[in-house]
Amino acid sequence: MKLDILAVGSHPDDVELSCSGTIAKEVDRGKKVGILDLTRGELGTRGTAETRDQEAKDAAEILGVSVRENLDFSDAFFENNTAHQLQIIKILRKYRPEIVLCNAVDDRHIDHGKGAKLVSDACFLSGLRKIETIFNGDSQQAWRPKHVYHYIQWKNLKPDVVVDISGYINIKMEAVKAYKTQFYDERSKEPETPISSSNFLDSINYRARDLGRLINTEHAEGFTVERYPAVDSIFDLI
Ligand SMILES: [Zn+2]
Repeated sequence: MKLDILAVGSHPDDVELSCSGTIAKEVDRGKKVGILDLTRGELGTRGTAETRDQEAKDAAEILGVSVRENLDFSDAFFENNTAHQLQIIKILRKYRPEIVLCNAVDDRHIDHGKGAKLVSDACFLSGLRKIETIFNGDSQQAWRPKHVYHYIQWKNLKPDVVVDISGYINIKMEAVKAYKTQFYDERSKEPETPISSSNFLDSINYRARDLGRLINTEHAEGFTVERYPAVDSIFDLI
């Protein structure tokens, strides 16, 4: 199966929090989207690897993505090394996405910046044909995605590209709330964390509204880029 977009997160829920409005919109337009989680988020203060597996599955269904995989790297301790790059290269060559969305380049959780660089490096290396990978007994063809965009998550990074997600904020919030153990639930007896307050959920909605306000739409999501975003005509910008 070939994907149009592969969205990668260091932890299950990174993608939902940061770029699920963009994903829901493109799925609605008939694009094939997949999600790749690098870890199972097993060190998260709330929930377990198993509950998060189920939540990730539920969120994928809400968003209508075609596939969701997990590489089961070590939460908090995975490294940007050859072994991990090769595992991501195999996924890139298997699904051949045109666009890769990945973690924020700089963020509160150390896995986010680390995951951003790891995925970005793998996207480049995946295009080098002399790096050989085997999948299901067959040697894979080199594949480099056309674009790598970094979504914005905890810190208020300044976006280089802003995507209008008007009409998709409800599905985004629904996908976020699929992570029942992670986010605000007044009945929960789990310890409080920076992301378990109702304020945090409000902030996800508010950021989308605020970015929307700045581009004159209802809701939006922001991304940073590694090279200049180019348009064919100056009129192409909305
Ligand atoms: Zn995370």
